[in-house]
Amino acid sequence: MPSPIVKPRFEAFHKQAGRCYYCGSLMWLNDQEGFARKHSISISDAAKFKCTAEHLVARCDGGGNDRSNIVAACLFCNNTRHRMKNAPAPNKYKEHIQSRINKGKWHPKSLQHLVSFPA
Ligand SMILES: [Zn+2]
Repeated sequence: MPSPIVKPRFEAFHKQAGRCYYCGSLMWLNDQEGFARKHSISISDAAKFKCTAEHLVARCDGGGNDRSNIVAACLFCNNTRHRMKNAPAPNKYKEHIQSRINKGKWHPKSLQHLVSFPA
């Protein structure tokens, strides 16, 4: 049995044209190596852009795995949010990331082309 999160994650990935809900970077679902090759980045850098499912309402707050509550986010944004002491609400976190990106302070320079890559 696949985990119940697989399908909504897949749907969110495509609904968002393969881009992270927070930073707008391209992500990958299955092909880390191909993604690294295509964008001329290292395999370990590509790991940051693995597509993960983010719950807009956390499971502990009663959020479910239905598609209205799931967005696709890159592993880097997802991990960084969960490492924060008081994880901000998704829309606040998105604002925070967008302002960091505008200052060039989110992904390292070598990875910024993934954010600006044309759709
Ligand atoms: Zn991201």
